Amino acid sequence: GEALAVSARVAPLGSRLVLLLVEDLTEARRIEAVRRDFVANVSHELKTPVGALSLLSEAVMGASDDPEAVERFAGRMQIEATRLTNLVQELIDLSRVQNDDPLEDAEPVRVDELVAEAIDRCRHQAGTKQITMAAGGTADLHVWGNRGQLAAALGNLVENAVNYSPARTRVGIAARKMSAPGGDLIEVAVTDQGIGISEKDKERVFERFYRVDPARSRHTGGTGLGLAIVKHVAASHGGEVTVWSSEGQGSTFTLRLPEAGAARDRASQHPDLD
Ligand code: ADP
Repeated sequence: GEALAVSARVAPLGSRLVLLLVEDLTEARRIEAVRRDFVANVSHELKTPVGALSLLSEAVMGASDDPEAVERFAGRMQIEATRLTNLVQELIDLSRVQNDDPLEDAEPVRVDELVAEAIDRCRHQAGTKQITMAAGGTADLHVWGNRGQLAAALGNLVENAVNYSPARTRVGIAARKMSAPGGDLIEVAVTDQGIGISEKDKERVFERFYRVDPARSRHTGGTGLGLAIVKHVAASHGGEVTVWSSEGQGSTFTLRLPEAGAARDRASQHPDLD
C-alpha cells in the first residue's frame, strides 16, 4: 500500500516501474513461501517412517524372548524402510526433472515402447488385483523428448490407475495423433474404473505431497509426488497433463506431448535451438 502511495506521486513511467518492483517482490515472497513449505513437508514426510522405525527397533529389542513378536515387528520395519526408500527415490526423481533440461538430449521416442514399459512396471500389482491392462493406437507414434523422463511420467499415470482401482477392473491406455496450432501433438490417455477424484481435489492432485486420502495412499506406498513429477515433465516438454474424473466411476489422465517430427521441424526453423 505504501509503495503504491509513493508510486502515485511519481511520473507515470516511474509509477509503472514501482508497480513492477512491488509485483516482483510479491512473486519472490511467494516462491520463498513455496520453498519453505516444501522443506517443511519433506521433513515431515521423512520423520514419519524414521520415527516408526525407531519405535519398532525398540519394540524388537524389548521382545527378544518372543520370536513371533520379533518377526511381526521386523515385517513392519521392512514396510517402513520400503516407504522411506520410495520417498527418497521420488525426491531424487523430482529434483532431476526440475533441474535437467529434458530437451538437451531429446530424441524421437516410440510411444508403443513407453506404453509397454509402463505396463510392465505395473504388471505384478495389476496381476494381484486381477486388473486387465489394454493399450491401443500406439503404433507408429513418436513423441519428442527425454526418454527416461517420459517413461517416468507415463509409468506414474499407469501406476496410479492400478493403485486407485478396485479388483477386476480395467485400465486402458489409448494414444492418438492430433493437430494443434503449434504443431502436431501426441495424446496418451490413461483411463481407469477406479475411485475417481472429486471436483475440489482435481486441481490439487498435481501439487507436491497432496493426497486425497493420505491413509490410503500410505497403504499403497504412495508419496504424493508422482503427479507433481508428471506435471513437471509434461510442461518442460512443451506439453500438458489434464484430468477428467467422475467420483466412484473412474478417471482419465491425458498427457499431451509434441509429436517428434513436428518438434524437429520447429527446432530446425530456429537454428539456435538445435
Ligand atoms: P501418490 O503417491 O499418493 O499416488 P500422486 O502424486 O501420484 O501421489 O497422486 C496424488 C493423489 O491423487 C493420490 O494420493 C490420489 O489421492 C489421487 N490420485 C492420483 N491418481 C488417481 C487415480 N487414477 N484415481 C483416483 N485418485 C488418484
